[in-house]
This record gives sequence, structure tokens and C-alpha cells, in this order.
Amino acid sequence: MCYNTVINFSRKLTEDMNNIRLTQSIKILMLDRADIKRLIEMVNVKVDWNKCNGDGVCVDVCPVDVFELQDLPEHSDTQKSVPVRADDCILCMACVTQCPTEAITVEEE
Ligand code: SF4
Repeated sequence: MCYNTVINFSRKLTEDMNNIRLTQSIKILMLDRADIKRLIEMVNVKVDWNKCNGDGVCVDVCPVDVFELQDLPEHSDTQKSVPVRADDCILCMACVTQCPTEAITVEEE
């Protein structure tokens, strides 16, 4: 076997192993999330738009992309954070603890 064949085989093997590890990690993540969701009946994510300054910290810190910044006609001063995927919340509380204006509440119902 020539040197290049061995190198190519080695590279392909490493690539395949990385793909398998990535797939396993994704499956573990999905399982963890599903298990957590089973434990949670309902989660209520609320944003007080009178307090929200639209800086998007919640958008940045939420690991499951619950929030989107949107233009709301009744709050035209700035965009406001809207919990568009509240059902995906995993109760990590990152948004609650990092919101600079304490505009977000997250509660189990
Ligand atoms: S508690 Fe965590 S998962 Fe739920 S909305 Fe806030 S940042 Fe997202």
C-alpha cells in the first residue's frame, strides 16, 4: 500500500469517526431534551413589554430559540422580545437572570 493511500484511508476513518460522534451527540441531546419535556407539563414564558428595551439578550442566551424580536404596533419605541416558541422552553432561566430590565418571567403551570 502506498503512503498516499494510507494517509487518505486514515483521513476518511477520522472523518467517519467524527461524524459518528456528532450523530451520537445530537441523539443524546435530543433524548435529554425529550426527557426534560416529558417532565414539564406546561411552561409559561411572559415578557413585560413595558419593561423590555429590545436589546435581544434573551434572543442570544436562550438555548432553544424561544424568543424573536418583533415590531409591535402598540410599542413603537423599539422592537420587543416575543416568546414565539414558548413550548420549547427547558426552564434554564438564562433569559430571566440575564434580562437587564427584569422583563421576563418563566413559570411552570
Ligand atoms: S428559561 Fe431558558 S429555555 Fe426558557 S425561554 Fe428562558 S432562556 Fe429559553
